Amino acid sequence: MLRRTLLSAGALSAMATMATHTSPLAAATWDHLKALPRSPRLPVLFLGHGSPMNAIEDNAYRRSWQALGAAFGDKYPRPSLVLCVSAHWLTQGWWLTGMDQPKTIHDFGGFPQALFDQRFPAPGAPAAAREIARGITTPAVGLDTREWGFDHGSWSVLKPMFPNADVPVIQLSMDYSRPPHEHFALGRELKALRERGVLIVGSGNIVHNLRRTQRGASAMQAHDWALDFDQRLTRQLQDGALGALADFQSFGEVARLAHPTWEHYLPLLHAAGAVDAGEPLRFFNTSYQSASISMRSVVWG
Ligand code: ZN
Repeated sequence: MLRRTLLSAGALSAMATMATHTSPLAAATWDHLKALPRSPRLPVLFLGHGSPMNAIEDNAYRRSWQALGAAFGDKYPRPSLVLCVSAHWLTQGWWLTGMDQPKTIHDFGGFPQALFDQRFPAPGAPAAAREIARGITTPAVGLDTREWGFDHGSWSVLKPMFPNADVPVIQLSMDYSRPPHEHFALGRELKALRERGVLIVGSGNIVHNLRRTQRGASAMQAHDWALDFDQRLTRQLQDGALGALADFQSFGEVARLAHPTWEHYLPLLHAAGAVDAGEPLRFFNTSYQSASISMRSVVWG
């Protein structure tokens, strides 16, 4: 079973002393950024990551991430930085990783040693992280220089995408105590970074209920409520009703079944927040794992 990881209170108080938030800079213009020069606009990704085993199995999901990564520097501009919002970094307050060499975190149990042997040695980007943390006016974002690293929500997808680990990566945590619309609003703050060489990646799942997994289910099999929620979200995304994504609880019981906890849904809000109304989108990996995890993924732009 996957564990949801929370920082300890002690670690949080230690990090709080390191918070380097300053304000107010003009929100989301990023004109002050020295570490990230202007660039052609990057797309935004939401990637369904599913089982950690997708990181090492030769399956359709991993192959799709490999193909997507190969499109950067070809179909898409090559990013100078990846900013990843993972379902697996939940904190009090909001934090950016600020290390030179973030560690690979194996935040799961009960998987083969080959998965624990995985390392993703992409560098961090402390100067860029510091500037981005300062530039986000609401909410305050702190800089974590020693606690986190790359959890499997980020490295399981980014390692297949960038196997040479030659693009710096920073992670943005999620304050799980804050309501969904604040996660979307933070995505809005990030939007202009797309023209600063930053590839924004949300990594979660559009449906994620580990209490209702069915062993042996095929990629096309899913619970009725999983299909229902996935289809409702698909329509909202196709319609460009991005702000409405934060109101997913209005779907009632189907939303409670799709997300008994919200951590795999919230990265979708960060990604969608960084998208302009009317931007073209493409779905891929429109299938399921264990009948209760939608792998539907989105590329905007
Ligand atoms: Zn996960």
